[in-house]
Amino acid sequence: MTRAMATETATADEQLPRAGVEQFTAVDVIKQKRDGNVLDHARIDWVIDAYTRGIVADEQMSALLMAVLLNGMNPSETSRWTAAMLGSGERLDFSCLRRPTVDKHSTGGVGDKITLPLTPLVAACGAAVPQLSGRGLGHTGGTLDKMESIPGWRATLSTEEIMAQLETVGAVICAAGSELVPADRKLYALRDVTGTVESIPLIASSIMSKKIAEGTRALVLDVKVGNGAFMRSTEDAEILARTMVDLGNEAGVRTVALITDMSVPLGRAIGNSLEVQESLEVLAGGGPPDVVELTLTLAREMLILAGLEETDPTDMLMNGRAMDSWRRMVKVQGGEPDAPLPTARHTHDLLVPADGVLTRLDALPVGVAAWRLGAGRTRKEEPVQAGAGIVLHARPGSEVRAGQPLLTLHSDDEDLFEPAIEELRGAWEIAPAGSRPFDRTLVTNRIC
Ligand code: URA
Repeated sequence: MTRAMATETATADEQLPRAGVEQFTAVDVIKQKRDGNVLDHARIDWVIDAYTRGIVADEQMSALLMAVLLNGMNPSETSRWTAAMLGSGERLDFSCLRRPTVDKHSTGGVGDKITLPLTPLVAACGAAVPQLSGRGLGHTGGTLDKMESIPGWRATLSTEEIMAQLETVGAVICAAGSELVPADRKLYALRDVTGTVESIPLIASSIMSKKIAEGTRALVLDVKVGNGAFMRSTEDAEILARTMVDLGNEAGVRTVALITDMSVPLGRAIGNSLEVQESLEVLAGGGPPDVVELTLTLAREMLILAGLEETDPTDMLMNGRAMDSWRRMVKVQGGEPDAPLPTARHTHDLLVPADGVLTRLDALPVGVAAWRLGAGRTRKEEPVQAGAGIVLHARPGSEVRAGQPLLTLHSDDEDLFEPAIEELRGAWEIAPAGSRPFDRTLVTNRIC
């Protein structure tokens, strides 16, 4: 046994550039977690740092991540893991701004475009919102992909540009720089290809290390639950929310989480430019009721944390100040707020088969179908289609009539309609009129 272990260690270490001067070996850390032990702080600090430096190999980190997924981490390990990730890169500091900083993070869902109206809305109320975002992978869309459908808009900003824009406009949506939590860049890419994304401590540390590094003083988390979200059960969503709220508060970021429904897509539009269009409707004082409700609920939470609760965000939507803030934000980043948004070359309607009430429309197949139509990517380097996606003509609870369009598919490539339609098979249910009411509570819990 001892001999076998020594051989195993030597084989792994032979590939390592500076194994002789390292404090621990990856194999030792992997075995600790594999055997269900608690990792001490020194081992956590070392393994995150050594992985970021390229000392711990991908296959070793994959084994450790799987051991974490299977055996979990306690709150102290999760907190140290988050701190070690945070320590792998730079931390932005916006404390010299005259506006209070506050941000929002969503764990991701189908049709979740809330960042787009919310960021300028909260800025119009007097806060600075540093929304450092990512691109989409899989069926949940990425904020940067949506914003990049605006002609001319630029996602990459220097720290000085972010600072200046926060001071003048108060709203920034941009790409997180490569120096922000480099450990997470490597770890997230590895988790994605090793089946280790769905671990609550790993999700919480990944999200919170980036949000803490971003320099916001307050944070509202939108933790999605339902078939279109990472967390399928309310229990898991609440554990994730509690873990993230504790990590944020411990790091000095005032943090609150809302648990919100993701069993049905948010709003009527799914896809990049389609979601920008819907966000503009919200900023103009209209838009689908669920998108408006969630935008205002999150805005109120953010304003409370920022000490600006006297301002009513509804007024800012209705009086045009939130739209002004959007236009300034887009223009400063090179975008043309008045330019027509790209549209897909082809559309295809799916029709209602019989009169009745739409009683179910699942978020996951709709998200996957939009991705299949070209709205999302499978690999990081793939381009996305700006105009691809799905428009819903009915929401669960609405009466529908045979022959009317239920969904319209949009894509630049007609060949993509068939695979998307395949994904949508069984995604909805139409029952005889009056048979079953649809009851959806959008915000189900608040964790602080
Ligand atoms: N989003 C992240 O940034 N990290 C995760 O682990 C999951 C979602």
